[in-house]
Amino acid sequence: SNVPPIILNNGVEMPQLGYGVWQVPDDEAERAVATALESGYRSIDTAAIYGNEEGTGKAIAASGLPRDEIFVTTKVWNSDHGYDATLRAFDASLAKLGLDYVDLYLIHWPLPSRDTYVDTYKAFEKLYSDKRVRAIGVSNFLPEHLRRLTQETSVIPAVNQIELHPHLQQRESRALHAELGIATEAWSPLGQGKGLLEVPAIVAIARKHNRTPAQVVLRWHLQLGNIVIPKSVTPSRIKENIAVFDFSLDDEDLAAISALNEDRRLGPDPAAFDMA
Ligand code: NAD
Repeated sequence: SNVPPIILNNGVEMPQLGYGVWQVPDDEAERAVATALESGYRSIDTAAIYGNEEGTGKAIAASGLPRDEIFVTTKVWNSDHGYDATLRAFDASLAKLGLDYVDLYLIHWPLPSRDTYVDTYKAFEKLYSDKRVRAIGVSNFLPEHLRRLTQETSVIPAVNQIELHPHLQQRESRALHAELGIATEAWSPLGQGKGLLEVPAIVAIARKHNRTPAQVVLRWHLQLGNIVIPKSVTPSRIKENIAVFDFSLDDEDLAAISALNEDRRLGPDPAAFDMA
């Protein structure tokens, strides 16, 4: 695979581009993940709540690839916050995936009103010291949650996976991550494929480079230093989304995309999101 690694803050290497499987039903996940692995992806992003850890695990097993050549991320769901519940949820995820370790385990949402993310993270630290996960991190954490977590626990999260795309550039979070040594991972990197890929400035840059708008947006992320996990179940798009390591955007292109920020979320506000 020609995807370069990001070196996480504990020295573990994570491919900078991976494949996300949100909204892929379990019975389709095996084929979709198999297509991604055949296309050169070596990082898969799933979560307990996606309900497709089994299909994902089957594709990994069937690929014949050595386990240490695939980077697997999963996430603890909101209903399993708390020290003991998190340890049990981790065992359940591992069993569904059919693995004996995961590469990266994330707290899916901070749920600040429940005040449980510190205890949840302490269970993550236990899993990390027991070598059942190669790295631990968080998702959807706002700066105030990261500050508290780093004050009250000992392992700095390796990653914060947050909604990030040209309409929501997350400058404050990215600056704090850089200060703390946390890698920024972008979810919905393509803005869920909605209006973003038709924005005239992006279409124009795509024409200039003879690429697609999706490829231009992914290149923008990569050149910013973000980890990206675009999702598609269409084989041609799965291949298109990883064919982004043989061209680059120039400063003018990057500036034009940076001018598109609107601080507009597609997903929930992490300060309030509390779905069981
Ligand atoms: P995305 O930005 O990756 O967009 C996916 C959609 O864009 C596809 O369904 C398709 O409609 C379109 N698309 C994909 N490739 C395309 C192409 N080449 N050309 C045109 N259209 C294309 O959105 P996403 O699925 O929301 O996010 C990616 C991954 O991020 C998810 O699968 C999941 O793994 C992760 N995620 C995490 C969280 C979280 O809370 N941590 C939340 C949402 C998503």
